[in-house]
Amino acid sequence: MYDVVVIGSGPGGYVAAIRAAQLGLKVACIDKRKEPGGTCLNIGCIPSKTLLQASELYWKMTKEAATYGLQAEHVTFKFSEMMRRKEGVIKGFNEGILGLFKKNKVTYITGAAKILSPTSIQVAGDPIEAKFIILATGSEPIALPFLPFDEKRIVSSTGALAFDQVPKKLLVIGAGVIGVEMGSVYSRLGAQVEFIEFLDKICPLLDDAVSKELERILTQQGMKFHLSTKVTGADISARSVSLKVGDKEMAADAVLVAVGRKPNTQNLGLEAVNITPTPKGFIPVDGQFRTSTSNIFAIGDLIDGPMLAHKASEEGTAVAEIIAGLSPTIEYTAIPSVVYTYPEVGAVGLTEAEAKALNLSYNTATCAFKVNSRAKCSGEEDGFVKVLADKATDKILGIHIIGAHASELIAEGCLAIQKKLTALDIARAPCAHPTLSESIKEACLAIHKMAIHR
Ligand SMILES: Cc1cc2nc3c(=O)[nH]c(=O)nc-3n(C[C@H](O)[C@H](O)[C@H](O)COP(=O)(O)OP(=O)(O)OC[C@H]3O[C@@H](n4cnc5c(N)ncnc54)[C@H](O)[C@@H]3O)c2cc1C
Repeated sequence: MYDVVVIGSGPGGYVAAIRAAQLGLKVACIDKRKEPGGTCLNIGCIPSKTLLQASELYWKMTKEAATYGLQAEHVTFKFSEMMRRKEGVIKGFNEGILGLFKKNKVTYITGAAKILSPTSIQVAGDPIEAKFIILATGSEPIALPFLPFDEKRIVSSTGALAFDQVPKKLLVIGAGVIGVEMGSVYSRLGAQVEFIEFLDKICPLLDDAVSKELERILTQQGMKFHLSTKVTGADISARSVSLKVGDKEMAADAVLVAVGRKPNTQNLGLEAVNITPTPKGFIPVDGQFRTSTSNIFAIGDLIDGPMLAHKASEEGTAVAEIIAGLSPTIEYTAIPSVVYTYPEVGAVGLTEAEAKALNLSYNTATCAFKVNSRAKCSGEEDGFVKVLADKATDKILGIHIIGAHASELIAEGCLAIQKKLTALDIARAPCAHPTLSESIKEACLAIHKMAIHR
């Protein structure tokens, strides 16, 4: 009998398993994939960022080298090598997680798990007994009814990470984070990329000003956006796919459907333990990740909240500590979201529209990277930092960054929100010069009408 069995070895599940083992519990982690790491490692964050890095480097060498006084002639790429490198990165981390399991004495079991009762789970024929069960089975891409995935020409993100050649023309349905990241990869590698987005903005959860700036820059890079536009049907032939978009037809050699993801609950045996998903498929949990069956917990993409790897990991740590009798808390408002385009976007806290909707009184200021000396030195001047601070208390409500390395810069915003810092705290904190982070300080100085560089 295990103390804890975790179903799913993604960033939620494997972190929960290791934290529970650190706390002295006897733990097993089950995944239907032989390679641990879940969506994030095998078909999500890691492969996409690996391809983004390779394609960005190629794009900079071909499009920007001359602006730095570099001569990079006849630069070309071998797509199969890029893919091989991506596989190597994944494999390294697969082995890393297996090593961590071994070190922490977590038993890793491969096979599809089905819950039989509150304390027993079936995997490949053999029942396993557990005092506590953590469900961390993640999510999967949503398909459109008239465009079933074949993962060759009509692809989800999984197929888009495994093309055997760069498509000449790629249509992306959905200009959310996954859509614009994968679209960027193939646009940089020479594909003609067009997005069809139902809403009137790209990456709809971003602050409006940031979303507009991102759309402007990606358009400048050659991508094309059709906003407030709906795909209503498709014609699939042996050679191409043609989408019905209003009264127009749009043809391409591949279509990426990136319209969202849904929680993975099929064949999990939830009926056996009276757990009923919400109409959107999420598993309802209380403030301690407990489902309606008190010894079964759920975390990560399977429950409500942003579908992000680091959110899943925070919950993995917390749920293990709760089972071990500790009282952890997660500051959800401090969880960042990032878009790994070029430039990147990093955001934490409230957008301006959210602050307005909550009737909050706030001060806001921006600092453009074009006045930042490091951005000038690096030739990475696109974008800005936008800060929102509560009018009465000066506490940081939100930080929104579009610019090079925004994924790294946003960590300061997460700490500020977690620790309830004020704009003046950031404005007064010393910053190395020349650095991009000076722009965060400068935007906070601007909140207090003390900005120097404007
Ligand atoms: C292309 C792409 C890019 C992304 N990029 C980012 C990013 O840059 N940053 C970020 O924060 N997030 C990113 N995400 C989202 C991130 O991958 C997810 O939020 C995260 O993986 C969720 O973690 P999880 O542990 O909840 O589930 P998952 O990582 O989905 O893991 C669930 C695991 O459960 C297993 N499983 C399911 N059912 C069973 C069963 N019955 N029995 C046994 N095992 C089962 C699955 O095989 C899987 O391994 C990206 C996603 C995609 C698709």
